[in-house]
Amino acid sequence: MEQLKEEMFKMKVEIKDLTKQYRKKIVLNNVNLVIPKGKITVILGPSGSGKTTLLRLIAGLLHPTSGEIFFNKTNVTNIPANKRNIAMVFQNYPLFPHMTVKENLKFPLESKKDGKIFRTNVYSKDEIEKKVNDISSLLHIEEHMDKYPSQLSGGEKQRVAIGRELIRDPDIFLLDEPLSNIDARLRYEMRSWIRKLHEMLEKTMIYVTHDQSEAMALGDWIVLLDEGKIVQVGTPDELYYDPHTRFVAQFIGNYPMNFLPFVLDKQSCYIDGERRELISGKTCKTIQSKGIPRGTIGFRAETIREFNQNKPLERDVIKLECIIEDVEKVLDQQILTVIYSGIQLFYVTKTKKKFSKKDSIIIILHHDNIYIFDENLCKID
Ligand code: ADP
Repeated sequence: MEQLKEEMFKMKVEIKDLTKQYRKKIVLNNVNLVIPKGKITVILGPSGSGKTTLLRLIAGLLHPTSGEIFFNKTNVTNIPANKRNIAMVFQNYPLFPHMTVKENLKFPLESKKDGKIFRTNVYSKDEIEKKVNDISSLLHIEEHMDKYPSQLSGGEKQRVAIGRELIRDPDIFLLDEPLSNIDARLRYEMRSWIRKLHEMLEKTMIYVTHDQSEAMALGDWIVLLDEGKIVQVGTPDELYYDPHTRFVAQFIGNYPMNFLPFVLDKQSCYIDGERRELISGKTCKTIQSKGIPRGTIGFRAETIREFNQNKPLERDVIKLECIIEDVEKVLDQQILTVIYSGIQLFYVTKTKKKFSKKDSIIIILHHDNIYIFDENLCKID
């Protein structure tokens, strides 16, 4: 019964035909989306794609031009932000500088009038003390309770800012690039901390970022936006292994996907360009069976292998002779920029072999790792 009650309090967010327009500029274009309850949903996309606008519409800080928003079955489209029981955390930490951490945490539960502190009528003094103590141990900030914000690191400030929102026991947590002002090392720590926090609270969290690696690390579910439209929704694995369009394939992954143009000519497939390398095997069969006259094949840098003359060439591969343009060493990886018929490709390898610029290299692409995109940039299966 208790579990059922808990489940009922978790919020699903449903967005129907949502459009936001400023004069002639359509910032969000007919967005339809279901954000599952109790999960971390990441809204990902390049700068200007409409992520913050979508989050602000969910929060009630903006009103849509058209469309509706539901929290579970309640239509909240016309309900003001302060009545939606949501929490919002932004990239800057909006803490009161003249208040200690403890005072900052208590603030949402108390109100001030004529310089005197009044408790909101929801909680007693003891309840407020208990809530502050619970939150401080949950956030591991017990030793900072009497400090002022200026005495805290970026990560600590952000934890207090999150704590101040948590204390109100919101139904939905909205986070807008909360880690972008935190230095890189701490960011990893904070990511794992946010995941742990979510596991404990199981609240619906909606997290905005432009950083695909952050989205992949945090999200149970990713909503990828481009120019105000949803381009794909799915788990991190679905977006990485099954990108529906070239845009998704390029946006997701530590290295942008490599692309080569192809052409279907009299039932034979070729890489289009000066050399017209023949594409055989599974890739060609798919192109033939769908009758796609031209498009691009895509493959990830980390799936390429180097041809080894001492080993027999496997079946079902494409062999390409390239020239090494650049070699970058990052810890145990080497990232090679190679040129095939004037086109730049990236090849990532963990081999210890030394590569030199301007040397030639033969790379191998396995058909299982090749994606086919048609002229409309959509993936063909
Ligand atoms: P993101 O968060 O993905 O970077 P935003 O949601 O902040 O994108 O903005 C999306 C687009 O909407 C941008 O091109 C931005 O310039 C435009 N925009 C946002 N707010 C306004 C506004 N008040 N008036 C006009 N254009 C706006």
